[in-house]
Amino acid sequence: MDDLAGKNVMILGGSRGIGAAIVRRFAAGGASVTFTYAGSHDAAAALSAETGATAVRADSADRDALIAAVAERGALDVLVVNAGTLVLGDPLTLDPDAIDRMIDINVRAPYHASVEAARQMNDNGRLIVIGSTNGDRMPFAGGAAYALTKSAMQGMVRGLARDFGGRGIAVNSIQPGPTDSDMNPADGPMAATMHGFMAIPRHVAASEVAELAAYLAGPHGAMITGSLQTIDGGFGA
Ligand code: NDP
Repeated sequence: MDDLAGKNVMILGGSRGIGAAIVRRFAAGGASVTFTYAGSHDAAAALSAETGATAVRADSADRDALIAAVAERGALDVLVVNAGTLVLGDPLTLDPDAIDRMIDINVRAPYHASVEAARQMNDNGRLIVIGSTNGDRMPFAGGAAYALTKSAMQGMVRGLARDFGGRGIAVNSIQPGPTDSDMNPADGPMAATMHGFMAIPRHVAASEVAELAAYLAGPHGAMITGSLQTIDGGFGA
């Protein structure tokens, strides 16, 4: 597999879950991969040893550190913004600081990192953010703020596609449905409820999301831009 050979790729939030699957897929495709992580040093080190990717500690909630980490990578071909957090609960009792931190990581960071990457990005580059099917549909209580963050990404990718399209840079969001990870385990307490909303009632595999990211980043993805690529087993259908 060499569909990503020679590509300079940065993946924000690559130590676990969907991000780790994307690191594995892009490294297997021949890309030179750097990924960030926040807290999972051991997982990041193990993934780096496994794939040859470079791990860099950079908290997406720290805007200036994140921008510096992106700038450090020079002329990227692909940026994947995967880092995200999920805060669920009654909006009347949730800690407002936790909500604001989620907005920092899920909204502010993707915007600032994408703009910084575009500054030096090679022509025909790709900006890919990991949104969520919850940007379109929130069928249970307690997810308003999370849905807010993923809906915000939709406007961002449409706008940035216009801003950078003249250089051939494509900007897209991948919107997974329930995907097996630490955030949303396939055998977790919410699984049956999630499957009840789906046409195909099983969790998405992180590797399936990674394959879609590789397609968008690869030679056949050049004319897909400003789009929302939903991979959710019909959760939003
Ligand atoms: P996990 O919680 O399993 O993994 C999250 C990853 O993001 C980890 O590598 C984590 O690194 C990194 N990360 C989190 N916060 C930060 C931060 N502040 N700075 C840098 N890295 C950070 O989540 P998933 O793999 O499930 O989710 C990945 C993305 O997919 C998220 O954006 C999520 O919203 C989205 N998504 C997930 C779905 C699901 O069902 N799993 C469904 C739809 C969308 P570390 O461990 O080092 O902190």
